[in-house]
Amino acid sequence: MSNFHWNCPYCGRNATITNSNLSSDGHLFSKDNKIGNLGLYTTVITCPNPECKEFTIEAVLHETKYASNTGRHVLYGDPLFEWSLKPRSFAKPFPDYVPFPIRADYEEACLIRDLSPKASATLSRRCLQGIIRDYWGIQKNTLYSEINELKDRIDSATWQAIDAVRSIGNIGAHMEKDINVIIDVRGGPYPPDSIPLVLNSIHEQGLGVTARPGTFGSDRSGLLVA
Ligand SMILES: [Zn+2]
Repeated sequence: MSNFHWNCPYCGRNATITNSNLSSDGHLFSKDNKIGNLGLYTTVITCPNPECKEFTIEAVLHETKYASNTGRHVLYGDPLFEWSLKPRSFAKPFPDYVPFPIRADYEEACLIRDLSPKASATLSRRCLQGIIRDYWGIQKNTLYSEINELKDRIDSATWQAIDAVRSIGNIGAHMEKDINVIIDVRGGPYPPDSIPLVLNSIHEQGLGVTARPGTFGSDRSGLLVA
């Protein structure tokens, strides 16, 4: 495999991955299963950063076809399944001084993104509200009102990240409802990758917040639904 750029989910560094950091292998099988010839491929990448050296494991399941000209099985079509085995989700690490409930909601929202998009969306909204209430000390009846209150108090880059969150499909449309109402995001007029976009925005704004450490948690009373 040729060299490619990669971002380490553990240390956040960008790196160029070569064969010295990469291991991949395939397991071909059929055993009369209902689909046919399948290939389960696993890829291990080790972070080249000498202070990190963490490794990731991903797996993908493909249909395969036998290519008579090469005598080998080749991948066919789009992947049937993809898994991130390590880390268990694409959640990016927050520093420890971000309150635990916010980090926990964010990490869980990432973890269940594919299994339960509506639960992931609900956690994302609660996470966003947790940041706004805890860091900025804004508490209104609805998250929509809280975001409006925030606009003149933050830099434009952070505002754009938050505005992206509320403008995405049903998540924005349902912000007037109670924060813990589970939103049915399936079948709605929203882009299928809206949840990852929300989570990325939460992380980006969270990083904007955490660039000024020490002001989180000044008054934790009444904040952050457990
Ligand atoms: Zn790393």
